[in-house]
Amino acid sequence: MEAWRRALNDPVSAFPIEKAGPAHVATLKTYDPPLSSLDGRRLAGAERRAKRLLFPTEDGELVLLIHLMSAGRLRYLRAGEAGPKTPAFRLRFEGGGQLVLTEGGPKKRAGVWLLTPDAVEAELAHLGPEALGLGADRLGEILRGDSRRLHSLLRDQRALTGIGRAWANEILHHARLSPFALSTQLSGEEVEQLAAAIDEELARGLELRERGASDKKAYRIHNRLGEPCPRCGEPIAWVDFEEHSIYYCPACQTEGRLLKDRRLSRLLR
Ligand SMILES: [Zn+2]
Repeated sequence: MEAWRRALNDPVSAFPIEKAGPAHVATLKTYDPPLSSLDGRRLAGAERRAKRLLFPTEDGELVLLIHLMSAGRLRYLRAGEAGPKTPAFRLRFEGGGQLVLTEGGPKKRAGVWLLTPDAVEAELAHLGPEALGLGADRLGEILRGDSRRLHSLLRDQRALTGIGRAWANEILHHARLSPFALSTQLSGEEVEQLAAAIDEELARGLELRERGASDKKAYRIHNRLGEPCPRCGEPIAWVDFEEHSIYYCPACQTEGRLLKDRRLSRLLR
């Protein structure tokens, strides 16, 4: 998401908006103020909170918020560049550029909100701090504040934002920590390992994304069941947990133990 923000920041603020919309009925989540109130205003640039992109107007009165969910794509088309016939949402700028949101598949999950700055604050109030650049001290406070399995805590956007299930797998492998380790039981050294792994892995992901690399190339652990661990060569293992797939290296992360699907072991007990 950070790569998208950087790419959009300059083009969206270069010209005033000529016409906002149309938007697919399932994509536009707000109706007051109407989209047309953006017409003639200029955007100040692109900002990001977790997976949401924010486009505040230069006059400070309105904020366009876009959440792409899993299948949404946002593109800036230069004047004359061909675009999709029926995008889920479109902003046309003076000068001919366009910002278009498309979404593959029949289900419309991506959303567009037009809000006042106060309403944005309320909307985002439940989000935790950004994971990237958090640091060991702040991370330690978050971990001690809630006794949870690490994998579950890392992807909880109320605790900290910016880590999805795939990057939780990459980060925990990098930090050599068990996905099932309890957040309150990490040593000071382990908290530092985890803080460093968060920064290094998210920075790696960002760099790969900016170079246009696919997810498949970016992930070293995620979705690689049975493939050799890039650190020790042992096969990557998999466990289903809270409806999320956890990939990990037993040799590097769990002292060789295989993690069990806890719902299943409860049934068997
Ligand atoms: Zn390993």
